[in-house]
Amino acid sequence: MNSEEISARILRIVLRHRRGAPEPGCDAETCPRCVPAHLPAVRASVRAGVPVECVLPGFPCKSPNPAKVLGTLPDRAEEVALDFLAGLCRQVREVYPPGMRLVICSDGRVFSDLIGVHDEVVTAYQDEIRRMLARRRPAPLSLFSIDDVPGMDGCSYDAMRRALDETYGERPERIREEVRAGGEALDLYRALTRFLLEDSFTPGVSRTRSALQREARRRAYGVIARSRAWGGLVAEHFPRAVRLSIHPQRCGSAKFGIRLTPEDDGWLTPWHAVAVESDDGYVLRRRADTERAGARLVHREGRPSHFVRALPDTPPSATCGPETLHGPSPLTRAPGAA
Ligand SMILES: [Zn+2]
Repeated sequence: MNSEEISARILRIVLRHRRGAPEPGCDAETCPRCVPAHLPAVRASVRAGVPVECVLPGFPCKSPNPAKVLGTLPDRAEEVALDFLAGLCRQVREVYPPGMRLVICSDGRVFSDLIGVHDEVVTAYQDEIRRMLARRRPAPLSLFSIDDVPGMDGCSYDAMRRALDETYGERPERIREEVRAGGEALDLYRALTRFLLEDSFTPGVSRTRSALQREARRRAYGVIARSRAWGGLVAEHFPRAVRLSIHPQRCGSAKFGIRLTPEDDGWLTPWHAVAVESDDGYVLRRRADTERAGARLVHREGRPSHFVRALPDTPPSATCGPETLHGPSPLTRAPGAA
């Protein structure tokens, strides 16, 4: 096989795991718009005989909404995703011995001020992901965060975010224009507004739904701006990498939306969900749906980890009804945990 054939095979392995519903006329693996968007990065690595590098912004911190997750630290849901991504790299190694390396660009620090999560909580989440990766050695996965950027050493977290905005930020008016024009920017804005609204319904919140909705819309623009700034920094640090995304992407996009589990769960991620073990393996579901279905909670190392069986029928819908916003039970504590 020549380098062109090997590159095409590697790309097919990745594109097979597209996230989100395919668009008409786009079979990602052979799509005349999707393949050329990502082939040059793969081809350059194959010609040089080095591992193909992928970057995946994500794994920020757990959602603050206890109706969705079990706590603030990564759990079995993150492990399932890390194992899935490591499996993808192993599949590439079978056709290309130098293999594929995937860098998780953990972005909790980038968004924590906008999503109302303390930086200490982000640090604890990142540290636990690093421990999970260390236990999987020699897993072809690694973690990169803004804390690792040269020159950020000794900066406060606010100063890191300011530097990111100043160096890579986009004008807010430009982003508003793009959202108004529709397409991918509008899809992302709507999804982020929904997540931010859901996550603002934490226990004890007293503001009205319309006030929270206004706030969610405002913060969604901030999250898009920061996300692009982070994307700019990541692209500069990993110029030869294939750019993956945790969000579904449109056909031919410079980024490719990749699944984090074998099941295609649309916009759901391990940090907005719990892992549920069934006879067919693990899937992601919202915690409240899982509890309603009567699944059994499993603890590991003194912490709630995942649920077993009694699977809710489908991944959560894209709607944001009162049921998904309210009714969170208190965070389950492990027996004897502090
Ligand atoms: Zn396509």
